[in-house]
Amino acid sequence: MSKLSRRDFLKLVGTASIMASLDWATLIRKAFAEVQNGTISLIWFESQDCAGDTTSLIQATDPDIIQVLAGLTQIAPPGAVILPYHETVMPEWGPAAVAHLALALGGVYDPYVLILEGAIPPDSSISGIDGTDLLCYIADKATVMEALDKLEMVLEGKLKPDYLLPVLDVVKAINPETYKTLLDRVAAKKDEIIKNTKECLRDLGDEDVISCARWYACLMKRAAAVVTFGNCASYGGIVGNTVAFVYGGNKDLYDTYNSKYSGGYASNFVEKWHKQGWALSPSGGVGFFPDPIRGYKGFAKILYEKGGWFREAAAPFVRFIEKVEKGDKSYMNVKPGQPGIRPAIAVPGCPSNGNAQLKTLANLILWVKGILPLPELDKYWRPKFIFGPTVHEQCPRAAWYAAGVMRKYPGEPTAACLFGVGCKGPISNCPYNKVGWVNGVGGPTRTGGVCIGCTMPGFMDAYEPFYKPLPAPVPPKSTGTVAAIVGAAIVGAAAAYGIGQLHKREVSKSK
Ligand code: SF4
Ligand code: SF4
Repeated sequence: MSKLSRRDFLKLVGTASIMASLDWATLIRKAFAEVQNGTISLIWFESQDCAGDTTSLIQATDPDIIQVLAGLTQIAPPGAVILPYHETVMPEWGPAAVAHLALALGGVYDPYVLILEGAIPPDSSISGIDGTDLLCYIADKATVMEALDKLEMVLEGKLKPDYLLPVLDVVKAINPETYKTLLDRVAAKKDEIIKNTKECLRDLGDEDVISCARWYACLMKRAAAVVTFGNCASYGGIVGNTVAFVYGGNKDLYDTYNSKYSGGYASNFVEKWHKQGWALSPSGGVGFFPDPIRGYKGFAKILYEKGGWFREAAAPFVRFIEKVEKGDKSYMNVKPGQPGIRPAIAVPGCPSNGNAQLKTLANLILWVKGILPLPELDKYWRPKFIFGPTVHEQCPRAAWYAAGVMRKYPGEPTAACLFGVGCKGPISNCPYNKVGWVNGVGGPTRTGGVCIGCTMPGFMDAYEPFYKPLPAPVPPKSTGTVAAIVGAAIVGAAAAYGIGQLHKREVSKSK
C-alpha cells in the first residue's frame, strides 16, 4: 500500500487556504481509495445535547454522510466505514439499541472512533452525589441484561439477527462480506461481550439506570480515538453556562432560585459538584476537554482524578490532552494502537459544521489505517487546518473594519463591520464566514449576524451578551481616508488590547 508522506500531507492541510482548495477533494479521494480492507466503526454517543451537531452532519456536502456510509463515492469503498450506534438516526430502540453498545464493549466494532455530542454531567459513581445519574442516562441495567439474553438467542439460532440488529441490515445491503464478518465476530467474541458489559455495570442494581458518564467511560476503554462534535461536547457549551449560579453575580436571582423555588438545589447539588470540577450550571455538564476560560477541567481529567477503572479508561486521552496543552508536538507521532496514549480531537461550534466533522473523521479514519498522520492541533485541541485563522482575519466585512465603518445597531441595513454591535470575530477561530456553512452558502458575519464565539472555550458565558461590543474605544469620527485608516488602526490595536485583557481576566478568574 503506498502511503502519503507526513510532508505531503502537512503541505496539503497545514494552511488555512486548504479549506478553499480543490486539492483537498483530490487528496482525500485518493487517500480513501486506499482504505480497501477492513471496517472502521463510528460510535456516536449523545449525552446532554440538542442533536444540532447531528443535523449538521446531515447537512455535510463535501461529501455527504450517506455517500460515505454507502460507499457511493470514491471516498470510501462500500462497507469500509459503518455507523452502528447513533441514538438519533438508528432504527433500533430499547434492548436492540443498547445491544450495539455491548458489541462495542466486546470488541465487535474494533477499531472504532468514539464521537461525543453533548455535555457530560456528573453521575453518582463519579461524583458520589445521589441522584446525579438521572441528569443523563441511557437505559437501565435490566434492559442491557435483556439485550445480552437476546444476543445469546441470536447466536443459538432462536432469533433472527435482524430482529436484534436491524442497522446491520443496511451494512448487509451495502456489503454482504462486511455483514458476514461482523456476525462472525459476534459469535467469536460472545464471552468478551458478556464479560465486558457486566464489568461496565459492575456495581449497579437491576433497577439502576446507566449514566451517560458511565457509558462514556466504558466506551473509552477500547476507542481508537475520541472526537467531540459541538461546543457542549468539547468544552461544556451552553449546558455548562453558569446561568443564575455565578458566585458574586446576580445574588437575588441566585437566592430566589436556590431557596424559594428549588429547595436549595444550588447549595445542595450545584455547589457540591462544582467543587469536584463539574460545571457551575443546573446540570453540571462539562465537555471532554478542559475549558480554560471558565476553569472547568473537563470530563477526561475528572475521570482520571477519580482513580480506579475510571483512571484506566481516561489515562491515554489525558496524556494526549496534556501534550497538546503543553505545546509538545510529539502528539502528532502517536500511532494507532500505541500503548498508553490515544488521540482526542475537538470540533467545536454550536453546532459544529458538517464538513468539519467529516474532514476530521476522514483524517482520523485514515490515521487508524496508518495512512495519514494526526492533524496538527491548536491549544484548544482543534485541527489547525480548520480552525487556524480567526473569523476577523478572513471576514468579508474586513474592508469596512479597516475603514472604521461600523453598524450602529443590529440589523442596520448596511454591509458595514459588526464590531460595534458585538461581533466576537476578532477573538474566535472559525472559517465559515469565508467558506460558507452549507455548500458555500451562509456563515456568520456574511449573513449579517455577529460572530458569537461558539467555537471557543468559555462559550457562552465569556461571550455574552452577544450584542455587547468587545472592550475597545469607539473609532474616531472622520470621513477622511487617512484619518479613517488611522482610526481603524487605533480600533484594531485597542480591540486587540481589550480582547487580551478580557481573556486574561477570564483566565485568572477561572484559576
Ligand atoms: S454544541 Fe450547540 S448544537 Fe451542539 S449539542 Fe450543544 S447546543 Fe446543540
Ligand atoms: S469585527 Fe466581525 S464583522 Fe467586523 S471585520 Fe471583524 S469579524 Fe468581520
